[in-house]
Amino acid sequence: MSKPIIVIGAGICGMSTALWLRRFGHNVILMDKAKPGMGASYGNAGLLAQWAIVPITEPSLWKQIPKHLIDPMSPLFVKWRYLPTLLPWLVEFLRNANANKALKTKDALVPLLTDSVLQHKVLTEGTSAQSWIADSKFSYAYRDKTSFEKDTFSWACKKEAGMVPDVITGLDVQDVEPICGPAIKCLAVLSGQGHVLSPHIYVSKLAEVFQNLGGTFIQTDVQDFEKNMDKISAVLTDQGRFACDKIVVTAGIWSKPLMGKLGLNVPLETERGYHVVYKNPSQTPENPMMITTGKFAVTPMTDGLRCAGTVELGGITLGPSEAPIKMLRRRVAEVFPNMTYECTEEWMGFRPSTPDSLPLIGELDHSGIFTAFGHQHVGMTAGPKTGRLIADMIDKRTPNIDMSPYDPVRYASR
Ligand SMILES: Cc1cc2nc3c(=O)[nH]c(=O)nc-3n(C[C@H](O)[C@H](O)[C@H](O)COP(=O)(O)OP(=O)(O)OC[C@H]3O[C@@H](n4cnc5c(N)ncnc54)[C@H](O)[C@@H]3O)c2cc1C
Repeated sequence: MSKPIIVIGAGICGMSTALWLRRFGHNVILMDKAKPGMGASYGNAGLLAQWAIVPITEPSLWKQIPKHLIDPMSPLFVKWRYLPTLLPWLVEFLRNANANKALKTKDALVPLLTDSVLQHKVLTEGTSAQSWIADSKFSYAYRDKTSFEKDTFSWACKKEAGMVPDVITGLDVQDVEPICGPAIKCLAVLSGQGHVLSPHIYVSKLAEVFQNLGGTFIQTDVQDFEKNMDKISAVLTDQGRFACDKIVVTAGIWSKPLMGKLGLNVPLETERGYHVVYKNPSQTPENPMMITTGKFAVTPMTDGLRCAGTVELGGITLGPSEAPIKMLRRRVAEVFPNMTYECTEEWMGFRPSTPDSLPLIGELDHSGIFTAFGHQHVGMTAGPKTGRLIADMIDKRTPNIDMSPYDPVRYASR
């Protein structure tokens, strides 16, 4: 048998990559230090966010920052003692917050995101994972119509990509979404969307499908690598050395130290995010929504109503904070005043974010080292397409989209 391709990290990106490679007939070993789907892919909002084509670094970010930093009900939080470490990344990130750069990023996100529901369906067709994908609409919930109308940059970009919402106002809001209280007076509804009913179960099902197809999953901590004449030759783990033909690094935020060992200094930082799951709620929305005042999503899932979002800049070693959870709870009580529930569950996870808000998808200089990480807020959405693109590149099928914006080599000269 040929030497394997080793995929490192069994989140949605690694799982999709491993599955596509196996489908195309490769000998694939998928490695993860934990069970599949326990990283950022565990607790996200489950949205197949085809509409999330506008990066956070939109031009109005500068105006919003001071307000965000003093308002405890804002969705942005900072662990101040982490600021010195964060600063170089933050400066580079903020340099992208202008119309020119945001539009360039948007153009690169469109081909990666806008057919996500179809990509998930193609990945899972005929498997036990398929029933974990739901067709849905998606609503942006605004305080009022004026707030919707002020969101001009984002909706202009979406319109250009063919996404025009139905705008619902006044008492009609409660007809469409009876769970909403009077704090929501405008919904901008996009049809033809989708979500996942439990991100963790979904990724676990994909792992089963992969293994049933003859793929190998090994729970092991990847620690280092060996190269031979600049080409990858082995992966070193806490269970020993595994010779390989190629590797794909799909370790989310933890890709940074792994890539450091491979000679690429990637400016990857985490935007920490939180969720609160309301168990056995008395009401749920008909469809997932974005509560724009708190910039968090609410998604009806099999284990309850998941409210997930917020951005906390604070690295991966400091423990969770109370403030983002408090904000989520207060906003949920404000927008869904009549919802009761049995109990709640909380979680914090690490979005892997680059300063240009684009993932690294590609090969490092014919080294056999491929990267598929850095999907920040949209990894659940873009995972299957990313996996397919990597499999195409490995099999020398030219992808039918411009891959240059995601090229990992953009960080090679650091
Ligand atoms: C609150 C929140 C809400 C979100 N909502 C959405 C959403 O609605 N839609 C969306 O598209 N995205 C969403 N995201 C973003 C999304 O969750 C991430 O972009 C995505 O999960 C990243 O997937 P991944 O496979 O790259 O990384 P991960 O899921 O983090 O997987 C990386 C894996 O690598 C493994 N690993 C790390 N180091 C090693 C090592 N040395 N050896 C072996 N294994 C290793 C880890 O154990 C982990 O399983 C959200 C994120 C958060 C935090």
